[in-house]
Order: sequence, then C-alpha cells, then structure tokens
Amino acid sequence: MSKVYKNITKFFKGKLAHRLSLYFTIIAILCSVCVAALTSYVQYQRDLVNVDKDVKQLADTIEAQVINHLWSVDRDSLTLLLEGVNRLPVVKGVKVVDDMQAEIILGSSNDHTVVDKPLFYEDKKVGSLTVYANREIAVNRLLAHIINLSISAALVFILLGFVFFTIVKRTITNHLSAISQMTLSPEYYRQKDDYTISLDRKYRDDELSTLVGALNAGLDKSRELAEAKGVYETRLHTQAYRDDLTGMPNRRDADQYIARSISEVLSSKSARHLMIFFIDLDNFKDINDSFGHTVGDNILLDSSERFKKIIQKYDGYIARFGGDEFIGCVQCESYIKGEIIAQSMVDEVNRHFNVENMTLTLSCSMGVVFCPEHAQSAEDVIRKADAAMYRAKEVGRNGFVIYDEDIMNDVLLHNNIKQRIKKALHQSDDLTIHYQPLINIKENTIIGFEALLRWQDDILGHVSPEVFIPIAEKTGLIFDIDTMVFDNAMAQVEQWRKAFNKNFKVSVNFSPTNFENSRIDYWLKDKILPRKNLEWVELEVTERLILRDDASVKDLLNKISASGVRLSLDDFGTGFSSLGYIKKFNTVLSKIKIDRLFVNEIMHSEADLALVKSIITMVESLGIEWLAEGVETRAQLDKLESLGCEFVQGFYYAKPMCAEEVEAFIENWEVETA
Ligand code: C2E
Ligand code: CA
Ligand code: CA
Repeated sequence: MSKVYKNITKFFKGKLAHRLSLYFTIIAILCSVCVAALTSYVQYQRDLVNVDKDVKQLADTIEAQVINHLWSVDRDSLTLLLEGVNRLPVVKGVKVVDDMQAEIILGSSNDHTVVDKPLFYEDKKVGSLTVYANREIAVNRLLAHIINLSISAALVFILLGFVFFTIVKRTITNHLSAISQMTLSPEYYRQKDDYTISLDRKYRDDELSTLVGALNAGLDKSRELAEAKGVYETRLHTQAYRDDLTGMPNRRDADQYIARSISEVLSSKSARHLMIFFIDLDNFKDINDSFGHTVGDNILLDSSERFKKIIQKYDGYIARFGGDEFIGCVQCESYIKGEIIAQSMVDEVNRHFNVENMTLTLSCSMGVVFCPEHAQSAEDVIRKADAAMYRAKEVGRNGFVIYDEDIMNDVLLHNNIKQRIKKALHQSDDLTIHYQPLINIKENTIIGFEALLRWQDDILGHVSPEVFIPIAEKTGLIFDIDTMVFDNAMAQVEQWRKAFNKNFKVSVNFSPTNFENSRIDYWLKDKILPRKNLEWVELEVTERLILRDDASVKDLLNKISASGVRLSLDDFGTGFSSLGYIKKFNTVLSKIKIDRLFVNEIMHSEADLALVKSIITMVESLGIEWLAEGVETRAQLDKLESLGCEFVQGFYYAKPMCAEEVEAFIENWEVETA
C-alpha cells in the first residue's frame, strides 16, 4: 500500500506537468463540490416544499370521501381509500380517527406531519385526518443528484485535467525538458562553436524564449571563457615547458618526455632501442666570453635548428637542457643506426656558423645511452648520458661516446676525489709541492721555479693534477688549494733565495675560477697588497681567463699587477690563442708561456714555426717575455735558440722535484756552471 502511495507521490512530484495538473484538478474539484453542494441544497429544499404541497392537495381531494365514509360508517371503503392514499409515493402514512376515537392507521406515523385536520359533516365533527409526508423522496433525489453530479464532474475533470496536462506539457514542460537535455549534452560542454539551444516551436516572445536566449548567452560567455582559459593554459604550458630562446622543449618537458618514452620502450615487445643523447657545445663559454651573449645566443639558436632538423628526420625528440646543453631521444633499430644519428649531429655542429659577419667553427661533445640496455629510468638515463658526454670531452671533444660501466666508475671516482681532496686539504701531508726549474738558456742560469702540486692519497694513490685540478675547480676547492700553494711555495722559494743568495722567481698556477670566488678580494687586500717587493712572484693564468674580457677580471688583474706580482699567460697555443687579447692585456702580462704541444709542433710543421715566429715578434714588440714549456730534447732547444728563445722549462733540464731534490739540483747546477 505504502509502495503504491510512494509511486503516486513520485508520479506527481517528479514532473511539473503532473503536479500542475494535480493542482488544477484539486482546485476544480473543490470548486465544483461547493457549487454542487449549494445547488443540491436549494433543490432539496424545493423538493421538500413540493412533497408537502402534494400531500396537502391529496388531503383536500380525499377529505369529502373520508367524511362520507365516516358518516356512513363504511369502514371497509374507508380502509380501501386510505390504502390507496398510503400507496402514493409522497405519503408516508395516513391516520383517521372517528368520533368514537377509533383509529385507522396505515403506513408510518413517525414522519413529518403535513396535514392534521378535523373532519365535519354539516358542522358536526365526525373525526380527524392526519397525513404524513414521505420526505425520503427529497432525500433520495438529493442523493441521486449528488451521485450524478459527482460522476459527471469526475468525468469532466478527468477530461479537463488531461487537456490541461497536455497543454502544459506541449507548451512548457516538453520545452523545459528539451532545454535541460541540451544543456546536459556533451556537445554543450565541449563548447562547440555551432552549438546553440533551440526550441522545436514557432518563435514566441515569451519566458521560454528569454530563458533559451539567456542560456545561449551564457554558452557564448562560457565559450569565451573557455577560449581565454585555453589561451592562458597554453601560455602557462609554454612558459613551463618551452625554452624561451630556442622555442624548444625545456628540461622539465624533457624529463617527462624521456620518462614516457622509456616506459613505452619497456612495455613494447619490439626489439627497438631508445637512444638518449646529451649534447654539450665545446668551449661555448669562451665564445660567450669573447664575442658576447648575442653571438652566443645566435649560435645556440642556429645549433638548435640544426639538431631539430636531423632529429625530425628520424622522428625523434630534442630539448634544450639548459645553457649550451641539449638532450634528446630517438628510437632506433640498432646501435649502429644510433651511432649514425649521433655522428650526423656532431658533424652538423662542425659546419661553419655565420654570426654577425663572422665565421665561427664549433664542435660538440655528446654522450649516448641506450635504453633498456644501459638504464631504465629517466633519472639514470640522463645521469649516464651526461657522464658519457663528459667522457667525450675528456677524450678530445668533437665526438660522441656511448656509455659503458667504466664511465660511471669514473664518475664515482670523480665524486670520491671530491671528498678525498677536501680531506687532503686539511691533512697537509697528503699534498706536497714540487718545483720545476725555469732556465735562462742564454745565460745558463736558473731563473726560478714553477710550483706544481702533488697529491698522494692513502686510498687513491698518486692522483695527477690533470685529474684533480679540474674537479677542484668545479667544487670551488681550487681557491683554497691555489692560495695554499701560493703561501707555501713563496715561503720555500724565499728560503732558497736567502740560502743560495739568488734572485729566484716563483711561479704559481692560479686557476681562472679563482677570479669568480668571492674571497679573492679579501685575499688580495689581506695577503698580497700589504706585502712589498713581490716582483719575484708570478701567477700563471690561462687564456680561459682573459678571453672572458670581464671588467671585474680586468680590475683584479690590474690590482695584482699593481701589487708587483707578475702575471704570466700559461699554456699559450692550446686555446683560442687570440693575439688581440694579448694586446688588450699587455699592460698586466709580463710573460707568455708557449705550451708544450706547440713547442713540439714547431719541430715538424713549417706553418707552426712561422706562426710562432710571428707571435714572438709581436710579444717582444709589446715588451712581454716568453718561455717555452715542455722542452725535452736538444733538438727542440736548438730550434728555440734559433728563434731567439731565452727562457725554457722542461724535462730536458729537470722534472718537477720535491724541495730536497731542488736543493741538490741547485747545488749541482752551481758546480757545473761555475
Ligand atoms: P702546467 O701549468 O702547464 O704545468 C706544466 C705541466 O707540464 C706539469 O704537469 C709538468 O710536470 C709538465 N711538464 C713540464 N715539463 C715537461 C716536459 O718536458 N714534458 C712533459 N711531458 N711534461 C712536462 P703536472 O705537474 O702534471 O701539472 C699539470 C697541470 O696541472 C699544470 O699544467 C697546471 O695547469 C695544473 N696544476 C698543477 N699544480 C697546480 C696548482 O697548484 N694549482 C693549479 N691551479 N693548477 C695546477
Ligand atoms: Ca703552469
Ligand atoms: Ca703550462
């Protein structure tokens, strides 16, 4: 029962048309009940009056006959007459009483008395007549009236309710349902341009049209908002995932892309490899330092275009990882294919770059990792590709190196060195200074010594400065190392100057990265400037430093030079060897050290010999001394002498030696040259 009730209430509550029809029907029923009650009441009253009137007329009609029968005491006829009267519908009962008080009663005498009159025959009372009216007639009529009215009203209201329901449905609720269906449709949410809400009816200027208009305006507005949101999101995405300069994906995008590509390769059953490569432009910092950032940016743009072109051919991916580093990946069926792609990228960088009316030659170093063979996570892959790239730099740049286990072991060693050298700095026994004599070949004298650091580690054994100096430079420890060497070497050579009464010089290597160290100002102010007569002390800096053409570097070099400390340019001939820079720095440079490799070259190449000659001419004209490094043979010495060389350094005379050996060397030299 309650279920039926629930269904009914649901039926009426659920739909607007149903509910409106219900309200309409209830109101109509209530109104018609009131009207029906009123009309029925009036009719009932009228029926009662009519019954009474009929009864009175009947009594008048039969009065004479009743008097006759009473007079003649014809009881039978009287009874017969009364029975006839009693049978009439309007009569409920009839009673006659004669003058003897004998009663004849027919029918019921409890009902409404309409007639009760005495009967006279010629002025003599013969009895009385009482007639009871049958008022049930009116009641029955009333009932019949009500029933008829109810049935016809019910039929009419059902019909009207249905008609009302249909009208409401067709004119309102069907449209409302259509509107809600349309606003809930996927097309509405997809914000399609050609999608608008429309009603299936002739246009009417009513509330529904206003509603549809408002919804369409809302739709337009939300389309506008969605468009603006889309533009905004794209911009945000671009900012977050694109590189500003090259428009390439950036590091964040690369991390995600590579992670996705790795999981694709791992889950696919094909035998393809994912080659991940890490590219770093060689000596890019020097380009930035010597030609400025605009040139640097143009080179980056140009190289990124070149890489993109190649990688697109193989349907691969490339991003700018930061600075002059690029990272990318490409699927290839074999290692060989991967190597071909890697080589083509290296070759592409070798093509000339034309920037601001200059033609520059560049190279790049590249580390290559294959997934899943070498690594299976984005982090590992990038780390290993980076390590392989560093190996490519170590083995001479301008090429690629495929990752292998040794590379990572070297990285671990690198990290190990980092830790151990920190320790060594605090346990001074592990670090010692060796000295290599600098010789004046014209006068056959020792002019001084270059201090070269040696490191003997308990675990790693002897570690070459070629290995640990670059690591110390990366970690910033080099500043502590160089200043420590500076202090100790100065003290040592000062002691020899006194002991042998010779004007020995000391040359200390000073890394270019020291000039970026915030402590250099303090060091200069506190340790160098207060000391006097430092003309016998020399700091060896490399081209890397002066190529930077940095105002603050120049300022520091000027300060050092003003303190009396000399500056020499080390390893000349190995880098860009820009003579223009020597001219620019000629006021602070007092010596140029021609690199060992260059010294070696002049023995075999006439072109190099000519170049060295022109360098020497220029350097001498600027009043700068020059020294040849790495002299190993008599032949080299002869050649250098023929060029007018005055100063040399090399194994031909002596290897770098510890302090005691140096003392013996000096004594021996004195004896031999005496
Ligand atoms: P460098 O400044 O060019 O030092 C000369 C290097 O050439 C030394 O190598 C020396 O042993 C080597 N050498 C000298 N004569 C000859 C020769 O005739 N033949 C050959 N084959 N080699 C010769 P070393 O001591 O291994 O130092 C390597 C580099 O490490 C140095 O090159 C210098 O750049 C750096 N270095 C060494 N000690 C220090 C230091 O205390 N501070 C800094 N910043 N760098 C240092
Ligand atoms: Ca040096
Ligand atoms: Ca050198």
